[in-house]
Amino acid sequence: MNTRILPADSAETAKTAAAIIRSGGLVAIPTETVYGLGANGLNPEAVAKIFAAKGRPQDNPLILHISCAEEMERFCQQIPQSAYTLARHFWPGPLTMVLPAKSCVPACTTAGLSTVAVRCPDHPLTRQIIELAGVPIAAPSANISGKPSTTTAQHVLHDHDGRIDAIVDGGPCRVGVESTIVDLTEDPPRLLRPGGITPEQLIAVLGDLTVDKAVTAQIDRDAVVKAPGMKYRHYAPACQVVIVAGSREKAARYIRSHWETGDRVLCFEEELPLYEGCCPLSYGTEADAATLSAGLFSALRELDDPSIRRVYARCPVGGGIAYAVQNRLKKAAAFHIINAEEWV
Ligand code: AMP
Ligand code: MG
Repeated sequence: MNTRILPADSAETAKTAAAIIRSGGLVAIPTETVYGLGANGLNPEAVAKIFAAKGRPQDNPLILHISCAEEMERFCQQIPQSAYTLARHFWPGPLTMVLPAKSCVPACTTAGLSTVAVRCPDHPLTRQIIELAGVPIAAPSANISGKPSTTTAQHVLHDHDGRIDAIVDGGPCRVGVESTIVDLTEDPPRLLRPGGITPEQLIAVLGDLTVDKAVTAQIDRDAVVKAPGMKYRHYAPACQVVIVAGSREKAARYIRSHWETGDRVLCFEEELPLYEGCCPLSYGTEADAATLSAGLFSALRELDDPSIRRVYARCPVGGGIAYAVQNRLKKAAAFHIINAEEWV
């Protein structure tokens, strides 16, 4: 199969992409979070192609992308008032809501759950594709399962060249980490995955929020969890990743004294001078966590190289978008964290 690259500035792109979706094919779509691997979410055969292309476990459900908040009612039922309030505040945007599914949503999209995840993405071209296709687009992140997510069309081409019909090239993704997922079937709502809409923003609108344990800790593969995706090793380059926590100076002292040939250091821009001679790679500036979320997956993909032995990583602290960066980096490190403050 020849994978076509469809440029964002062509008037034909939206029509071509929508036609492929309608005919049961696979199209990678740009969003503000990461690139998604899209198919008609109501067509089980098309959805099966997503799982095959990604090598995605069958028990990991997909998010349905819709073009406006009103479409929620086509696929969800018993919608609480809070869903409309969240949609008004944050859609289009990086927020996914889990709601009871209507029977028109096939089991392969929901992985057999009674709920469905829906999101209206903040990318005009992608919303236009959904509208023209006339069906919701089921789309997980476009990476091969387990690998760091795709934030450019080139990342998608690297993983899927010759295996999918087309890639819509909308440039690099603005947020850079996947959407925030909130389960609205519980009261108070439960945060299943942090993302571009921060816990602080959600609490300001909802009043209260429970944080699922899968957000902050390693989950056993056999565990029954609310968001099945959270239990798998995720976002990881081929080698071991170790997070080194603590002050800038203590972390540098720890890393420099343990560093061996073949190791890399994933750090903040401000820290580059501390790691001279240790092959450092910056993924953004600590002073602006949004640059870290935008740069994280590109950096992790660059570090996905068999010649690298180990990656020592520096992780931002605090809330806001830094909370989502912590979550992705800790998962990439399989929660392997060393506190440099305790090292003497
Ligand atoms: P991805 O788009 O690859 O980031 O994966 C989608 C994420 O949404 C996975 O972590 C899924 O477990 C989660 N998800 C999708 N549908 C549901 C649902 N009905 N209930 C809970 N989590 C969901
Ligand atoms: Mg993913």
